[in-house]
Amino acid sequence: MDPSKSASILFFIALSLLHTVTQGFEESTGARIVTQEQEHAHEVHCSRERSKAAWDIIEEYLMPFVEQEQYQISSKCRLHQDNDLFRDQERHKIHVDINEWRCGYCKKSFRAEKFLDRHFDNRHYNLLNTSHSKCLADLCGALHCDYVKNSKSPKSKCNPAAVARNRHLCESLADSCFPISQGSSASRLHELFLRQFCDAHSCSGKRKPFPREGKKRTSVFYLAISILTLMLLPIFYLIVYLYQSEMRKGKQELRRISQVGRKTKPS
Ligand SMILES: [Zn+2]
Repeated sequence: MDPSKSASILFFIALSLLHTVTQGFEESTGARIVTQEQEHAHEVHCSRERSKAAWDIIEEYLMPFVEQEQYQISSKCRLHQDNDLFRDQERHKIHVDINEWRCGYCKKSFRAEKFLDRHFDNRHYNLLNTSHSKCLADLCGALHCDYVKNSKSPKSKCNPAAVARNRHLCESLADSCFPISQGSSASRLHELFLRQFCDAHSCSGKRKPFPREGKKRTSVFYLAISILTLMLLPIFYLIVYLYQSEMRKGKQELRRISQVGRKTKPS
């Protein structure tokens, strides 16, 4: 057998052996993490991911209007930040770089947000505010988390019972967070909350959630427009400059031709 061929076969065998060994190692660490998570799983029955989705929706589609009215949401309102189990942990996430997330409690670094989430679940679960047992993810039905997560595609089938339940939850949020009896700001926000979140809870599909949009979205839109304009402006000036220099060249050419013509005429 060709020595180079046998060497390459040996190399290949060694490589595949190494692969199986590392795979086994990864599986065992994976299993360890799962058992660690299972240890504390009974403590929290609230989805971090859905709580975050609900919080993002509140931040984007409600808070700009609440701030505009300078209204203080009461802690009795389930949308209040104290009623989000994960709010304190989320506030202790430090996004250093694209590939670096740091724990605000113990300063440990992680490659991705999901690893930091796992670290919070394993190491800092005792810091979760479980005393109120309030879970923001429970409001996802009323706040249209699925609509936002599924990139705004309408659901194929409408369940009237679920829609009625979500509408009821939505209206009870409007009543408890913005009681009409508390003055004009509360009344305006009550009305806004119904239009922004509750009207879309119907099977007709005529109304989409968040008709008033959010402030973040519009500011991002304007930012994109202005960046685009700034990028296109130099290109526009370059075209104008090139066009003008072309014209100038053309004129000089014409002048030369006419001069040559004048010189040749007398002969
Ligand atoms: Zn930590």
